[in-house]
Amino acid sequence: MIDLRSDTVTRPTDAMRAAMASAEVGDDVYGEDPTVLALEERVAGLFGHEDALFTPTGSLANVLAVAALVAPGQEVLCEARAHIARAELGAHGAINGLTMRTWSHPRGQLDLAAIEDLFAPDLGPFFVRTTAISVENTHNFAGGTVVPLTDLKALRAFADGQGVAVHLDGARIWNAHVATGTPLAEYGAVADVMAVCLSKGLGAPVGSLLIGSREQMVEARVRRKRLGAGMRQAGILAAAGLHALDHHVDRLADDHANARLLAEACGVDPASVDTNIVAFDRADAPSFVAAARDAGVLISAVGARTIRLVTHLDVGRADAERAAGALAKLVG
Ligand SMILES: *Cc1c(COP(=O)(O)O)cnc(C)c1O
Repeated sequence: MIDLRSDTVTRPTDAMRAAMASAEVGDDVYGEDPTVLALEERVAGLFGHEDALFTPTGSLANVLAVAALVAPGQEVLCEARAHIARAELGAHGAINGLTMRTWSHPRGQLDLAAIEDLFAPDLGPFFVRTTAISVENTHNFAGGTVVPLTDLKALRAFADGQGVAVHLDGARIWNAHVATGTPLAEYGAVADVMAVCLSKGLGAPVGSLLIGSREQMVEARVRRKRLGAGMRQAGILAAAGLHALDHHVDRLADDHANARLLAEACGVDPASVDTNIVAFDRADAPSFVAAARDAGVLISAVGARTIRLVTHLDVGRADAERAAGALAKLVG
């Protein structure tokens, strides 16, 4: 089976397991795990922020990130298919007590005119107040699309003008960085708080980081513990992340090339594939997924009609070619 359901399905390499096995550890709830501290410092630095906080999942990093910016009873604006809106099981309402309104873009892009229309300043006890705007880069359900830096900078300027915060869901910001050559710090500069994943394309078994100011991380550390996610000798996991940063960033370009190959096989314009995700609509999505499985390729339906294929560390060129051949037969 060639598994293209997600880039979360990767298994740690032998070298990554060795790095984990030899990690120096301590109790991170006491702030004494040197490997966790090293990872947090390194990732904060990569994005030009003061501090970072290691979390077990990207969903938790997003919940903590948005909570750092939006108080209960206030709202965050995001794209309609954003992970925070669709795939975090309502956590931002259920846990953070905030509301969301959305704009829609077929490629998950920013739409500043729509955002300006939605934006609600503090009008007293009449309307929900917008206190953050969230952007996802790359955009998962829109097909791994990159949000251009110029658009992010325009959003930053709007946010500064209105005194509203920007949250960046950078679960796959590494892919955007490799696809465009944009320095990570340039992405970091547009966000007040951001979240990044180590367990997607980077191939770590577990782990994400919340990134922002020292003050925000102090508060987020309290919220993380309150939610039961204070981890002890987590350096075992952080070591996988450090190893991934050393060895698995540049190779994302291979995943992007494989995704374009698969797109072509599925009748999707490869030029529309920015990174490692191919998304396209088919009326027969569930039966197409089943037929692909019968042909030895696991793919997923991420909506009633939307098919998604994701390339990753455990799918080499030969596997991608084999999957492309099988899918081309089904599409043809
Ligand atoms: C995967 C993902 C997350 C975090 O997911 P977890 O499975 O909770 O780690 C957040 N945002 C986006 C866009 C994602 O694709």
